[in-house]
Amino acid sequence: MSTETLTSYAGSFIAGAEHANGGAPLAVTNPANGQVFASVAGASAADVDLAVRAAADSLPAWSSLAVSRRGAVLARACRHVEDHLDELIPLLTREQGKTLRDSRIELTKAVDTLMHYVGLSKALRGAHTPGLDPGVDGYVLRRPLGVVGAIVPWNFPTTLLSNKLAPALIAGNTVVAKPAGTTPLTTLRFAELLSEGGLPDGVFNVVTGSGGEAGDALVRHPLIRKIAFTGSTPVGERIMALCATGVKRVTLELGGSDPMIICDDADLLAAASAASMGRFYNCGQACLAIKRLYVFESVADEVIDAIVGKARRLKVGPGDAEGTQMGPMHTAGGRDELAGQVSRTLATGGSLLVGGEPGCGPDLAADGFFYMPTVVVDPPHDSPMAVEEVFGPALPIWRVRDLDEAIARANASIFGLGSSVWTRDLGRARKAAERIEAGYTWINSRTKVYDELPFGGWKSSGYGKEHGEEALDYYTESKSVVVSSGA
Ligand code: NAD
Repeated sequence: MSTETLTSYAGSFIAGAEHANGGAPLAVTNPANGQVFASVAGASAADVDLAVRAAADSLPAWSSLAVSRRGAVLARACRHVEDHLDELIPLLTREQGKTLRDSRIELTKAVDTLMHYVGLSKALRGAHTPGLDPGVDGYVLRRPLGVVGAIVPWNFPTTLLSNKLAPALIAGNTVVAKPAGTTPLTTLRFAELLSEGGLPDGVFNVVTGSGGEAGDALVRHPLIRKIAFTGSTPVGERIMALCATGVKRVTLELGGSDPMIICDDADLLAAASAASMGRFYNCGQACLAIKRLYVFESVADEVIDAIVGKARRLKVGPGDAEGTQMGPMHTAGGRDELAGQVSRTLATGGSLLVGGEPGCGPDLAADGFFYMPTVVVDPPHDSPMAVEEVFGPALPIWRVRDLDEAIARANASIFGLGSSVWTRDLGRARKAAERIEAGYTWINSRTKVYDELPFGGWKSSGYGKEHGEEALDYYTESKSVVVSSGA
């Protein structure tokens, strides 16, 4: 087994330069072997203050550029990141655990999202209301909010950052981002590359550190005008409460427990394939993932057999090994939590058809955080896997009578992020899309997020939207202006 060499990092990227943080160091671990390979100094409240002030200082010049000019600057910086994807991909795999293929998909998507908003920078138009009164016209101005704090989790460190950074920068804001304490490295290099590519100093800053110290300091900072947060529901609720002071704007992309409904007339093999991909992609550690599957009784055996077959065939291994389809979980703690959730569920009922154990074998380091693809059928509807978010590669499946029961079960959750329905009857599909309480419904489609469409959770899954032109509304204030010609 290889031994990792320990590298130390200063920890922040502020005003276009590395900044040595004064807070407690954070260990960065390779999830495939459990070894610490980097130590990153965490940001103290004083480091966060420096970053926010750098962002505030850069705001007047950045926000006064023409929108299309901001787009052109960001496009050039983006191309520089794109030229370095081959450097970023293994780094993301090493600190996060995902396969090299998934790291490439993630980083390509992160750049695509930035470029999507670069494109919109030439398409933005506003409202004009002529003739409010004789000789009086109205129009609506849109102004940036100011300094935005972006707080991001470890499962998709770069795409979840781009979802915030792109609309924030195009709208004329400046940004201080805080990645998760366990995945700071790709984000730091991403920021450095954007800066080398010409993004002006201070427009995008990164502070590393724990949520309790660096994250909290960012949320409370009086110069922050908005927090864009992706993470768990309990932390999101806390942040929303803190943002009440100063009436800071807030968007929250939180946890989910996405239902998938497979009707008796669906393309069953395609649906099973989408379920497997939707559950096991990124080792099941995605907010949008198939976390509860409801299948009509008459076709349940066929669907379950197909999913179990796929789970058995998935090649689990280190993210950087040839042929690996599913990497380790991100942390030992996350793996233990999932294992506990599966066994607490099985203690209440249901059958374990595959998995339910940590990974072991000649290709898997004993200290890696592996957990085998798991399928549990018909556990009680109030068991942990039914009511809690399952953040790992374990899928509970229930047999249901019909669409009404499936939708009622789907909606019996505090979450409302994504959802999907498989049926050849579009009338049925539309009925389901109207009734399922979630921010997204895919019909006969795998659960892919499009930059073109707004995305955001209902209920405890979040507040506000990312993606789409709508995201720009969450990074601007509008002002009505009335102009009288003096007649
Ligand atoms: P988490 O809430 O623990 O942490 C997310 C981020 O918040 C990290 O950067 C963390 O350091 C920071 N943080 C933690 N406590 C904080 C505090 N008190 N103040 C300020 N910042 C704080 O989430 P996690 O466990 O790292 O990520 C997994 C969760 O994220 C899951 O629930 C998942 O569903 C959710 N998620 C949601 C989406 C979405 O778009 N809806 C996308 C990905 C992940």
